[in-house]
Amino acid sequence: MSPNLLLLGGTLEATALAQFLAQTDIRATVSLAGRVARPKRAALPQRVGGFGGVAGLEAYLRENAITHVVDATHPFAAQMSHNAVAACAQAGVPLIALTREPWVPQSDDRWVRVADIAEAVAALDRPAARVMLAVGRMHLAAFAPNPQHHYLLRLIDAPDAPLPFPHHEIVLDRGPFTEEGDRLLMARHGTQIVVSKNSGGTGAYAKIAAARARGSQVIMIDRPAMPERLEAHTMQEVMNWLSHSGTDLGV
Ligand code: NAP
Repeated sequence: MSPNLLLLGGTLEATALAQFLAQTDIRATVSLAGRVARPKRAALPQRVGGFGGVAGLEAYLRENAITHVVDATHPFAAQMSHNAVAACAQAGVPLIALTREPWVPQSDDRWVRVADIAEAVAALDRPAARVMLAVGRMHLAAFAPNPQHHYLLRLIDAPDAPLPFPHHEIVLDRGPFTEEGDRLLMARHGTQIVVSKNSGGTGAYAKIAAARARGSQVIMIDRPAMPERLEAHTMQEVMNWLSHSGTDLGV
Protein backbone atom coordinates (compact mmCIF):
# COMPACT_ATOMS: atom_id res chain seq x y z
CA MET A 1 0.00 0.00 0.00
CA SER A 2 1.25 3.50 -0.80
CA PRO A 3 0.94 5.68 2.27
CA ASN A 4 -1.09 8.87 2.35
CA LEU A 5 -0.06 10.75 5.47
CA LEU A 6 -1.74 13.42 7.53
CA LEU A 7 0.86 15.41 9.47
CA LEU A 8 -0.61 17.43 12.34
CA GLY A 9 1.78 20.35 12.60
CA GLY A 10 2.45 23.70 14.20
CA THR A 11 5.98 22.95 15.48
CA LEU A 12 9.55 23.20 14.20
CA GLU A 13 9.72 19.40 14.23
CA ALA A 14 6.64 19.14 12.01
CA THR A 15 8.14 21.67 9.59
CA ALA A 16 11.37 19.68 9.44
CA LEU A 17 9.49 16.43 8.84
CA ALA A 18 7.44 18.10 6.09
CA GLN A 19 10.65 19.29 4.44
CA PHE A 20 12.04 15.78 4.58
CA LEU A 21 8.86 14.15 3.24
CA ALA A 22 8.68 16.66 0.39
CA GLN A 23 11.90 15.17 -0.95
CA THR A 24 10.40 11.67 -1.05
CA ASP A 25 7.57 10.11 -3.08
CA ILE A 26 5.39 9.82 0.00
CA ARG A 27 2.03 11.55 -0.27
CA ALA A 28 1.39 13.78 2.73
CA THR A 29 -0.66 16.78 3.82
CA VAL A 30 0.23 19.16 6.65
CA SER A 31 -2.57 20.36 8.91
CA LEU A 32 -2.33 23.64 10.86
CA ALA A 33 -4.78 25.05 13.39
CA GLY A 34 -4.59 28.52 11.84
CA ARG A 35 -3.50 30.36 14.99
CA VAL A 36 -0.63 32.19 13.26
CA ALA A 37 -1.49 34.89 10.72
CA ARG A 38 1.39 34.10 8.36
CA PRO A 39 2.54 30.51 8.94
CA LYS A 40 5.84 29.44 7.44
CA ARG A 41 5.16 28.00 4.00
CA ALA A 42 5.02 24.24 4.27
CA ALA A 43 7.00 22.12 1.85
CA LEU A 44 3.89 19.94 1.39
CA PRO A 45 0.23 20.53 0.54
CA GLN A 46 -1.39 22.22 3.49
CA ARG A 47 -4.85 22.56 5.03
CA VAL A 48 -5.69 25.09 7.75
CA GLY A 49 -8.31 25.12 10.53
CA GLY A 50 -9.93 22.74 13.00
CA PHE A 51 -11.56 19.53 11.77
CA GLY A 52 -14.61 19.84 14.01
CA GLY A 53 -13.71 17.56 16.90
CA VAL A 54 -13.23 13.80 16.82
CA ALA A 55 -16.12 13.20 14.40
CA GLY A 56 -14.82 15.86 12.01
CA LEU A 57 -11.33 14.41 12.01
CA GLU A 58 -12.63 10.87 11.53
CA ALA A 59 -14.67 12.07 8.52
CA TYR A 60 -11.58 13.84 7.14
CA LEU A 61 -9.50 10.67 7.45
CA ARG A 62 -12.11 8.61 5.60
CA GLU A 63 -12.90 11.20 2.89
CA ASN A 64 -9.24 11.76 2.10
CA ALA A 65 -8.24 8.09 2.33
CA ILE A 66 -5.57 8.89 4.93
CA THR A 67 -3.53 5.78 5.73
CA HIS A 68 -1.31 7.13 8.56
CA VAL A 69 -1.37 10.07 10.97
CA VAL A 70 1.73 11.68 12.47
CA ASP A 71 0.84 13.94 15.40
CA ALA A 72 3.68 16.45 15.53
CA THR A 73 1.70 19.11 17.40
CA HIS A 74 3.06 20.99 20.39
CA PRO A 75 3.20 19.10 23.73
CA PHE A 76 0.61 21.55 25.09
CA ALA A 77 -1.85 20.94 22.22
CA ALA A 78 -3.61 18.28 24.32
CA GLN A 79 -7.05 18.63 22.78
CA MET A 80 -5.78 17.97 19.27
CA SER A 81 -3.72 15.01 20.45
CA HIS A 82 -6.66 13.42 22.30
CA ASN A 83 -8.90 13.96 19.27
CA ALA A 84 -6.30 12.41 16.96
CA VAL A 85 -6.03 9.23 19.05
CA ALA A 86 -9.82 8.86 19.24
CA ALA A 87 -10.46 9.57 15.55
CA CYS A 88 -7.67 7.27 14.38
CA ALA A 89 -8.99 4.46 16.59
CA GLN A 90 -12.46 4.86 15.12
CA ALA A 91 -11.22 5.05 11.52
CA GLY A 92 -8.68 2.23 11.97
CA VAL A 93 -5.79 4.49 10.95
CA PRO A 94 -2.40 3.97 12.65
CA LEU A 95 -1.00 6.98 14.52
CA ILE A 96 2.37 7.96 15.88
CA ALA A 97 3.26 11.10 17.83
CA LEU A 98 6.54 12.90 17.13
CA THR A 99 7.30 14.33 20.56
CA ARG A 100 10.11 16.07 22.42
CA GLU A 101 11.48 15.11 25.78
CA PRO A 102 10.59 17.66 28.46
CA TRP A 103 13.37 19.90 29.76
CA VAL A 104 14.86 18.94 33.11
CA PRO A 105 16.37 21.43 35.55
CA GLN A 106 20.14 21.68 35.93
CA SER A 107 21.79 22.23 39.30
CA ASP A 108 22.02 26.01 38.88
CA ASP A 109 18.48 26.46 37.55
CA ARG A 110 15.96 28.23 39.79
CA TRP A 111 12.72 26.56 38.72
CA VAL A 112 9.37 26.66 40.46
CA ARG A 113 7.32 23.90 38.86
CA VAL A 114 3.59 24.41 38.49
CA ALA A 115 0.90 22.13 37.07
CA ASP A 116 -0.86 24.50 34.70
CA ILE A 117 -1.54 28.12 33.69
CA ALA A 118 -3.78 28.71 36.74
CA GLU A 119 -0.94 27.72 39.08
CA ALA A 120 1.48 29.95 37.16
CA VAL A 121 -0.92 32.87 37.69
CA ALA A 122 -1.11 32.04 41.41
CA ALA A 123 2.70 31.92 41.64
CA LEU A 124 2.81 35.51 40.35
CA ASP A 125 0.67 36.76 43.24
CA ARG A 126 3.61 38.66 44.71
CA PRO A 127 5.06 42.20 44.68
CA ALA A 128 5.76 43.81 41.31
CA ALA A 129 8.57 42.24 39.30
CA ARG A 130 9.83 42.23 35.73
CA VAL A 131 8.41 39.09 34.15
CA MET A 132 9.05 37.51 30.76
CA LEU A 133 5.71 35.86 30.05
CA ALA A 134 6.38 33.25 27.38
CA VAL A 135 3.09 31.33 27.33
CA GLY A 136 1.71 32.27 23.92
CA ARG A 137 -0.92 34.78 22.88
CA MET A 138 -3.92 32.58 23.74
CA HIS A 139 -3.20 32.54 27.50
CA LEU A 140 -2.37 36.19 28.19
CA ALA A 141 -5.85 37.07 29.48
CA ALA A 142 -5.43 34.52 32.29
CA PHE A 143 -2.75 36.75 33.84
CA ALA A 144 -5.20 39.62 34.52
CA PRO A 145 -5.17 38.97 38.31
CA ASN A 146 -1.54 40.20 38.51
CA PRO A 147 -1.43 43.61 36.79
CA GLN A 148 1.35 44.84 39.11
CA HIS A 149 4.16 43.26 37.09
CA HIS A 150 6.00 44.62 34.09
CA TYR A 151 5.60 41.94 31.44
CA LEU A 152 7.86 41.22 28.50
CA LEU A 153 5.83 39.40 25.84
CA ARG A 154 7.41 37.75 22.85
CA LEU A 155 4.74 36.84 20.35
CA ILE A 156 4.49 35.76 16.72
CA ASP A 157 1.46 38.00 16.07
CA ALA A 158 0.36 41.12 17.94
CA PRO A 159 -2.47 40.51 20.45
CA ASP A 160 -5.91 41.00 18.90
CA ALA A 161 -7.46 42.35 22.11
CA PRO A 162 -6.26 44.91 24.67
CA LEU A 163 -4.04 43.29 27.31
CA PRO A 164 -5.39 43.05 30.87
CA PHE A 165 -2.19 44.42 32.44
CA PRO A 166 -0.98 47.99 31.93
CA HIS A 167 2.79 47.55 32.06
CA HIS A 168 4.10 45.52 29.16
CA GLU A 169 6.45 45.48 26.23
CA ILE A 170 5.71 43.38 23.16
CA VAL A 171 8.45 41.91 20.97
CA LEU A 172 7.19 40.36 17.73
CA ASP A 173 9.48 37.52 16.74
CA ARG A 174 9.42 33.80 16.05
CA GLY A 175 11.85 31.06 17.01
CA PRO A 176 14.19 29.39 16.99
CA PHE A 177 15.96 31.79 19.38
CA THR A 178 19.56 31.87 20.61
CA GLU A 179 20.77 31.98 24.21
CA GLU A 180 22.88 35.04 23.46
CA GLY A 181 19.92 36.86 21.90
CA ASP A 182 17.70 36.01 24.86
CA ARG A 183 20.38 37.09 27.35
CA LEU A 184 20.50 40.50 25.65
CA LEU A 185 16.71 40.76 25.54
CA MET A 186 16.39 39.88 29.24
CA ALA A 187 19.23 42.21 30.24
CA ARG A 188 17.52 45.10 28.45
CA HIS A 189 14.18 44.31 30.09
CA GLY A 190 15.72 43.54 33.49
CA THR A 191 13.88 40.21 33.62
CA GLN A 192 13.65 38.70 37.11
CA ILE A 193 11.15 35.91 36.43
CA VAL A 194 10.45 33.86 33.30
CA VAL A 195 7.13 32.05 32.91
CA SER A 196 7.46 29.18 30.44
CA LYS A 197 5.69 26.04 29.32
CA ASN A 198 7.89 22.95 29.53
CA SER A 199 7.84 22.64 25.75
CA GLY A 200 11.08 20.68 25.38
CA GLY A 201 13.11 20.82 22.19
CA THR A 202 15.80 23.28 21.23
CA GLY A 203 13.93 26.16 19.56
CA ALA A 204 12.50 27.63 22.78
CA TYR A 205 15.22 26.57 25.23
CA ALA A 206 17.24 29.78 24.78
CA LYS A 207 15.19 31.67 27.37
CA ILE A 208 15.68 28.89 29.93
CA ALA A 209 19.45 28.91 29.44
CA ALA A 210 19.48 32.72 29.52
CA ALA A 211 17.45 32.75 32.77
CA ARG A 212 20.00 30.34 34.30
CA ALA A 213 22.87 32.60 33.26
CA ARG A 214 21.14 35.62 34.86
CA GLY A 215 20.10 33.75 38.01
CA SER A 216 16.46 34.53 37.19
CA GLN A 217 13.65 32.38 38.50
CA VAL A 218 11.65 30.27 36.04
CA ILE A 219 8.02 29.41 36.70
CA MET A 220 7.91 26.20 34.66
CA ILE A 221 4.50 24.90 33.63
CA ASP A 222 4.33 21.10 33.45
CA ARG A 223 2.85 19.41 30.42
CA PRO A 224 -0.79 18.40 30.21
CA ALA A 225 -1.56 14.67 30.25
CA MET A 226 -1.46 12.98 26.86
CA PRO A 227 -3.41 9.90 25.77
CA GLU A 228 -1.80 6.47 25.51
CA ARG A 229 -0.18 6.33 22.05
CA LEU A 230 2.88 5.28 20.14
CA GLU A 231 5.61 7.94 20.39
CA ALA A 232 8.77 8.74 18.45
CA HIS A 233 11.42 11.34 19.25
CA THR A 234 13.13 11.53 15.87
CA MET A 235 12.20 11.77 12.23
CA GLN A 236 14.03 8.51 11.59
CA GLU A 237 11.84 6.68 14.09
CA VAL A 238 8.75 8.00 12.31
CA MET A 239 10.11 6.79 8.95
CA ASN A 240 10.91 3.36 10.43
CA TRP A 241 7.38 3.10 11.81
CA LEU A 242 5.96 4.07 8.42
CA SER A 243 7.92 1.44 6.59
CA HIS A 244 6.84 -1.24 9.09
CA SER A 245 3.16 -0.44 9.34
CA GLY A 246 1.50 -1.87 6.28
CA THR A 247 3.18 0.19 3.59
CA ASP A 248 5.29 -0.82 0.63
CA LEU A 249 8.09 1.54 1.72
CA GLY A 250 11.49 0.18 2.70
CA VAL A 251 11.32 -3.47 3.72
P1 NAP B 1 -5.36 22.39 21.14
O1 NAP B 1 -5.87 23.20 22.28
O2 NAP B 1 -4.95 21.00 21.40
O3 NAP B 1 -6.43 22.34 19.97
C1 NAP B 1 -7.67 23.02 20.00
C2 NAP B 1 -8.35 22.77 18.67
O4 NAP B 1 -7.63 23.42 17.61
C3 NAP B 1 -8.38 21.30 18.26
O5 NAP B 1 -9.42 20.61 18.89
C4 NAP B 1 -8.55 21.43 16.77
O6 NAP B 1 -9.86 21.84 16.43
C5 NAP B 1 -7.66 22.62 16.44
N1 NAP B 1 -6.28 22.21 16.10
C6 NAP B 1 -5.18 22.18 16.90
N2 NAP B 1 -4.10 21.81 16.21
C7 NAP B 1 -4.51 21.59 14.95
C8 NAP B 1 -3.85 21.19 13.76
N3 NAP B 1 -2.51 20.98 13.73
N4 NAP B 1 -4.61 21.05 12.62
C9 NAP B 1 -5.95 21.31 12.64
N5 NAP B 1 -6.62 21.70 13.73
C10 NAP B 1 -5.92 21.85 14.87
O7 NAP B 1 -4.17 23.13 20.41
P2 NAP B 1 -3.48 24.56 20.74
O8 NAP B 1 -2.74 24.42 22.01
O9 NAP B 1 -4.50 25.64 20.57
O10 NAP B 1 -2.43 24.61 19.56
C11 NAP B 1 -2.85 24.92 18.24
C12 NAP B 1 -1.71 24.68 17.28
O11 NAP B 1 -0.60 25.49 17.62
C13 NAP B 1 -1.23 23.24 17.29
O12 NAP B 1 -1.18 22.80 15.94
C14 NAP B 1 0.13 23.27 17.94
O13 NAP B 1 1.04 22.35 17.36
C15 NAP B 1 0.58 24.71 17.74
N6 NAP B 1 1.33 25.23 18.88
C16 NAP B 1 0.79 25.20 20.13
C17 NAP B 1 1.53 25.67 21.21
C18 NAP B 1 0.98 25.61 22.60
O14 NAP B 1 1.68 26.04 23.54
N7 NAP B 1 -0.22 25.10 22.82
C19 NAP B 1 2.82 26.19 21.00
C20 NAP B 1 3.35 26.20 19.71
C21 NAP B 1 2.59 25.71 18.67
P3 NAP B 1 -11.02 20.80 16.03
O15 NAP B 1 -11.45 20.16 17.31
O16 NAP B 1 -12.05 21.66 15.40
O17 NAP B 1 -10.42 19.80 15.07
